Amino acid sequence: MVFENIKKNLDNYGIKMGLTEQEKALLLSHKQVKHAKLTVNGNKYDAWRIIHNNSLGPAKGGIRFHPNVSEDEVKSLSFWMSLKNSLVKLPYGGSKGGVKVDPRKISKLEKEQISREYIKAFSEFIGENKDIPAPDVNTDAQVMAWMLDEYEKIISKHEPAMITGKPIELGGCSLRERATGKGGAIILKQFLKKQRKEPEEIQVAIQGFGNVGRNIAKILHDEGYNIIAVSDVNGGIFNSEGLDIEKVIKHSNDTKSVVDFKDSTPISNNELLTLNVDVLIPAALENQITIKNVEDIKAKYILELANGPITSQADEILFKKGIIVIPDILANSGGVVVSYCEWSQNKTGNIFTTEEMGKVLDIKMNDSFHRTYELYLKEKISLREAAYTLAINRILAAEKARGNL
Ligand code: NAD
Repeated sequence: MVFENIKKNLDNYGIKMGLTEQEKALLLSHKQVKHAKLTVNGNKYDAWRIIHNNSLGPAKGGIRFHPNVSEDEVKSLSFWMSLKNSLVKLPYGGSKGGVKVDPRKISKLEKEQISREYIKAFSEFIGENKDIPAPDVNTDAQVMAWMLDEYEKIISKHEPAMITGKPIELGGCSLRERATGKGGAIILKQFLKKQRKEPEEIQVAIQGFGNVGRNIAKILHDEGYNIIAVSDVNGGIFNSEGLDIEKVIKHSNDTKSVVDFKDSTPISNNELLTLNVDVLIPAALENQITIKNVEDIKAKYILELANGPITSQADEILFKKGIIVIPDILANSGGVVVSYCEWSQNKTGNIFTTEEMGKVLDIKMNDSFHRTYELYLKEKISLREAAYTLAINRILAAEKARGNL
């Protein structure tokens, strides 16, 4: 149960932060929980759209298609979106959505039908000023395009700002696909500067080779880091001399997996997580580093690009071991920052250039990193606790201003 981890984190941090029972209860509750059963070709799929908090603005959060999607998972992901949007100072609350479906077992047509049924089920709760979806695991610009199209049919007008991560022709932006990876690279660079380390001295292992994993791999490879292992759902590959990431991307595009890449030896996902590297980047799913494998983790630093890849128990052990974790709500916030640019340009009719969006991303990531790092040094707490503290304080201030606390 992922939300159990969140409760434990809040129990731990809440005492030091001096959270009242009322504040804690508010943070652990969700403003809106919607469930539907989508029917496509006689098959039924559970689907959710959940808003955790919207005191700072309309809710924002992606939609995931995965066989393990559950209400507990969507609640957890929406909680992290609230914190992320707050930490990065965006005018958004947090939400998330998901469909319990195995994308490997459906056709492209069924994927489109599920996307359209999702919007039909939740259209009254979604909108540019209510709740704004985006891509997540197994959803992409094409899925966003189908969803926008269905939504605009229902409301009988254009409203491109209702969803982000769209194709460029529908109001999307060229930076969105790389944004989470790029944001993660900015944070890592700032963090390593503080440790007085250069990219050339750094060995990296990356779990997950989808949107986030392959983009961070490419960016770090181009910046001179040595990527010695990557993996996907089918397994991992390792080369102690470093992988040629361009070639791995081509191999993965051609064969649909990184496995069997010729200049490498095979490793399992658990072996990848326990490699003796400088930086470990979980970029797949939640609950990957748990009580079962935490004692074997040898990385010096962990950059969490997946949401919730470390359980709260494992997190405490990593902290005691001196392994520094750069938390998800900071490290992977680049995607939502660029989504914000896309939403703004759709709402105003102005058009950002890629350079302008890159600048916003740079400013937001650097500002969030420095505020978090400063508190981490000052209070001698973990980076996660520092990020949670900043994010929670902003949400609670908004709730107080509204008279809800
Ligand atoms: P994706 O569907 O594009 O890729 C997921 C990758 O993880 C694939 O390579 C898949 O093979 C791999 N994978 C799945 N199960 C695995 C397992 N058990 N072991 C190893 N690898 C496994 O998804 P994505 O958009 O890259 O998202 C990855 C993570 O990043 C998720 O936690 C997501 O919530 C988070 N995230 C994504 C974005 C974004 O902009 N897409 C933004 C912030 C956070």
